[in-house]
Amino acid sequence: MSETVVDLRSDTVTRPTPAMRRAMAEAEVGDDVYGEDPTVNRLEERAAEMFAREKAIFVPSGSMGNLIAVKLWTRPGTEVICERKAHVNQYEMASMAAIAGAFPRPISTADGILSWSAIEAEIRPKTYYFSQTALVTLENTHNMAGGTLYSAELTAEICDRAHAAGLPVHLDGARIFNAAAALGTTVAKLSAKCDSVMFSLSKGLGAPVGSILVGSGDFIAGARSVRKLLGGGMRQAGVLAAAGLIAIEESPKLLPEDHRNARRLAEALAEMPGVTLDPGAVRTNIVIFGVEKSGRTAAEICATLGKSGILASGVGLHSIRMVTHFDVNRDGIERAIAATREALAPGA
Ligand SMILES: *Cc1c(COP(=O)(O)O)cnc(C)c1O
Repeated sequence: MSETVVDLRSDTVTRPTPAMRRAMAEAEVGDDVYGEDPTVNRLEERAAEMFAREKAIFVPSGSMGNLIAVKLWTRPGTEVICERKAHVNQYEMASMAAIAGAFPRPISTADGILSWSAIEAEIRPKTYYFSQTALVTLENTHNMAGGTLYSAELTAEICDRAHAAGLPVHLDGARIFNAAAALGTTVAKLSAKCDSVMFSLSKGLGAPVGSILVGSGDFIAGARSVRKLLGGGMRQAGVLAAAGLIAIEESPKLLPEDHRNARRLAEALAEMPGVTLDPGAVRTNIVIFGVEKSGRTAAEICATLGKSGILASGVGLHSIRMVTHFDVNRDGIERAIAATREALAPGA
């Protein structure tokens, strides 16, 4: 029935474009642990420039980028303020505790977006017998809240107040380019006052592997050591960086189409009986909807969808996530809508 699989589980499933594959094949390379890979160096320089920062470093994954930042900004026994459903809190193997020795201080929100007043309430009193807050982390866009956004103004306000309280701010910007596209601004403006920023090359931007951490010259020098400590020093990584360069130059302009597709998907899903979803809250490429009223679990519905070649993720007993990206076009979205309508039909 269905020619190709429509994979909406995540934007991590994007495959490198023909241009990326050509650039990878032809990349000039050297040993990056010696700092001698010209393509990695170019990617890092270009990323630093785009974020208006001194330096950047190419890392194997977003999780490693976040962990490096946490390790540099904290000491064992100190605390990291984060949103409860943040990637650093839920999807990184508790590495901040297991490896950096830091303790998450999570804050529950309805939409994934922290306010200064919520953060301030969780800063530990400066008393010698309390563990001390060392870092504030923000996630933009917020994955598990459905791709929700921090504005440049809110991020700057939180950074100003955190700095006044003596705390650095790390931005998990795995999808910061989606946020910039949705808000009509630049990644530099959106993250201007953050002390470090991680973003993914391997999600909506379509590169096969890698993330980038940006910050001050001192911070990135420290990051180079921690990356090596974690086993993340890579040799002829220029073959990967070549795809990353195309990802940051070419892919951001494709993101508005992913956002339009997510909006179309959300509006159609919201009208289906059994679905709980506010389509107005879908601003980027992530659609998370409730199916409790359908009387079926997310796993059951995802299994039914899978039989029609539509892949989605159950992200809770009764929540399903669909993520749009450049490997799914409007036809694929329409197929996903039709298949979901069928899967939710009584007796399906
Ligand atoms: C995917 C993701 C990461 C981690 O990226 P990996 O490369 O998969 O380790 C970090 N933060 C957020 C918000 C993400 O969605």
